[in-house]
Amino acid sequence: MEDDGNNNNIPKDKPYPKLSKASTGYLEIEHFKNADLHTGYFCYNCTYFIKEGNHCAIVEDNGPDVNGKESGIIAPYGLCTLWDPNEQETR
Ligand code: SF4
Repeated sequence: MEDDGNNNNIPKDKPYPKLSKASTGYLEIEHFKNADLHTGYFCYNCTYFIKEGNHCAIVEDNGPDVNGKESGIIAPYGLCTLWDPNEQETR
Protein backbone atom coordinates (compact mmCIF):
# COMPACT_ATOMS: atom_id res chain seq x y z
CA MET A 1 0.00 0.00 0.00
CA GLU A 2 1.25 3.49 -0.82
CA ASP A 3 2.03 5.79 2.12
CA ASP A 4 0.20 9.06 1.47
CA GLY A 5 1.34 10.60 4.77
CA ASN A 6 -2.14 10.26 6.19
CA ASN A 7 -1.81 6.87 7.80
CA ASN A 8 -4.26 6.62 10.67
CA ASN A 9 -3.60 2.98 11.52
CA ILE A 10 -3.35 2.28 15.24
CA PRO A 11 0.01 0.64 15.98
CA LYS A 12 -0.44 -2.94 17.11
CA ASP A 13 3.12 -3.57 18.31
CA LYS A 14 2.52 -1.85 21.65
CA PRO A 15 0.46 -3.70 24.27
CA TYR A 16 -2.37 -1.70 25.73
CA PRO A 17 -1.40 -0.59 29.27
CA LYS A 18 -3.18 -2.54 31.98
CA LEU A 19 -4.72 -1.00 35.08
CA SER A 20 -3.08 -1.20 38.49
CA LYS A 21 -4.56 -3.50 41.10
CA ALA A 22 -5.09 -0.66 43.57
CA SER A 23 -6.99 1.51 41.06
CA THR A 24 -9.43 -1.31 40.29
CA GLY A 25 -10.09 -2.14 43.94
CA TYR A 26 -8.49 -5.57 43.51
CA LEU A 27 -8.04 -7.75 46.58
CA GLU A 28 -7.62 -11.42 47.45
CA ILE A 29 -9.57 -13.20 50.14
CA GLU A 30 -7.52 -16.11 51.50
CA HIS A 31 -10.55 -17.53 53.29
CA PHE A 32 -12.20 -18.19 49.92
CA LYS A 33 -9.25 -20.10 48.46
CA ASN A 34 -11.15 -23.40 48.70
CA ALA A 35 -14.62 -21.98 48.10
CA ASP A 36 -16.81 -22.85 45.10
CA LEU A 37 -15.41 -20.20 42.76
CA HIS A 38 -18.23 -20.67 40.26
CA THR A 39 -20.47 -18.74 42.62
CA GLY A 40 -19.77 -15.14 43.62
CA TYR A 41 -17.69 -12.23 42.43
CA PHE A 42 -14.41 -14.07 41.89
CA CYS A 43 -11.80 -13.51 39.19
CA TYR A 44 -12.26 -17.21 38.38
CA ASN A 45 -15.64 -16.60 36.78
CA CYS A 46 -14.88 -13.16 35.33
CA THR A 47 -14.70 -12.71 31.54
CA TYR A 48 -11.27 -11.05 31.86
CA PHE A 49 -9.60 -13.86 33.83
CA ILE A 50 -6.86 -15.84 32.05
CA LYS A 51 -6.67 -19.26 33.73
CA GLU A 52 -3.32 -20.24 32.24
CA GLY A 53 -0.88 -18.65 34.69
CA ASN A 54 -3.44 -16.66 36.68
CA HIS A 55 -3.55 -13.36 34.80
CA CYS A 56 -6.16 -10.76 33.97
CA ALA A 57 -6.64 -9.25 30.51
CA ILE A 58 -7.04 -5.73 31.91
CA VAL A 59 -5.37 -5.64 35.37
CA GLU A 60 -1.62 -5.96 36.10
CA ASP A 61 -0.23 -9.01 37.93
CA ASN A 62 2.25 -6.97 39.94
CA GLY A 63 1.96 -4.09 42.34
CA PRO A 64 0.06 -3.68 45.60
CA ASP A 65 -3.64 -4.38 45.88
CA VAL A 66 -6.01 -2.25 47.97
CA ASN A 67 -4.65 -3.94 51.11
CA GLY A 68 -1.03 -3.24 50.14
CA LYS A 69 -0.44 -6.94 49.45
CA GLU A 70 1.70 -7.97 46.47
CA SER A 71 0.95 -11.52 45.34
CA GLY A 72 2.37 -11.17 41.80
CA ILE A 73 -0.64 -12.96 40.30
CA ILE A 74 -4.32 -12.44 39.66
CA ALA A 75 -5.72 -15.11 41.97
CA PRO A 76 -8.81 -17.17 41.05
CA TYR A 77 -10.20 -16.18 44.46
CA GLY A 78 -9.42 -12.48 43.91
CA LEU A 79 -11.89 -9.87 42.74
CA CYS A 80 -12.08 -6.24 41.63
CA THR A 81 -14.71 -3.61 40.82
CA LEU A 82 -14.55 -4.36 37.07
CA TRP A 83 -15.83 -7.90 37.54
CA ASP A 84 -17.92 -9.07 34.62
CA PRO A 85 -19.67 -12.47 34.74
CA ASN A 86 -18.36 -15.21 32.48
CA GLU A 87 -21.60 -17.00 31.59
CA GLN A 88 -19.74 -20.27 31.03
CA GLU A 89 -18.37 -20.34 34.59
CA THR A 90 -21.04 -18.73 36.76
CA ARG A 91 -23.72 -20.98 38.20
S1 SF4 B 1 -12.42 -9.37 38.69
FE1 SF4 B 1 -11.04 -7.73 38.03
S2 SF4 B 1 -8.97 -8.52 38.35
FE2 SF4 B 1 -10.36 -10.25 38.42
S3 SF4 B 1 -10.30 -11.08 36.36
FE3 SF4 B 1 -12.07 -9.66 36.49
S4 SF4 B 1 -11.31 -7.69 35.80
FE4 SF4 B 1 -9.54 -8.99 36.24
